[in-house]
Amino acid sequence: SEVNLINLMHHVIDRFEMSNKQENIQFKRKLPDEIISITGDRDKLVQLMDNMISNAVKYSPEGGVITVALKKEKQRVIISVKDEGVGIPKENLPHVFDRFYRVDKARSRSLGGTGLGLAIAKEIVEIHGGSIWVSSDWGKGTTFWFSLPVNGEVVNTHD
Ligand code: ATP
Ligand code: MG
Repeated sequence: SEVNLINLMHHVIDRFEMSNKQENIQFKRKLPDEIISITGDRDKLVQLMDNMISNAVKYSPEGGVITVALKKEKQRVIISVKDEGVGIPKENLPHVFDRFYRVDKARSRSLGGTGLGLAIAKEIVEIHGGSIWVSSDWGKGTTFWFSLPVNGEVVNTHD
């Protein structure tokens, strides 16, 4: 069905903002004030945003800033989730989307999780016809990017 992507993103970020007060994580939203509608499965797209933002929160330091952005292109949008966390060493980057893969076993164990979040995220992006990738600076932070194809034209609410 038709999903309003911007509403969906605000909805997921709002939820994290309300539940993560104690870690002092700050969210920055760079989202256009438009209706961007895509054909997809709303629950799965919520889970996708959830998995991406929960990682950013989990691997952020106290007081870290998480920037969620959406950029329009002609046929697709590109969404990025950027954090100021520990980062991922270059040699581990190719494996982070593998099922059950976790970078630093000791660190990851103390933070909890199964290593499935990104594998599920990749699957959801791909069934929607998009792709997902990551860039990271060890010690500086990580940015996950994913693209999703949009339906027809993007409608501007102010026109
Ligand atoms: P789950 O999502 O199943 O609860 P998880 O978060 O460990 O567990 P993934 O979301 O699949 O699993 O992430 C895989 C691994 O990639 C993580 O264990 C972590 O080592 C690394 N990782 C993922 N996101 C980040 C991030 N934003 N910053 C640093 N490392 C990350
Ligand atoms: Mg995860």
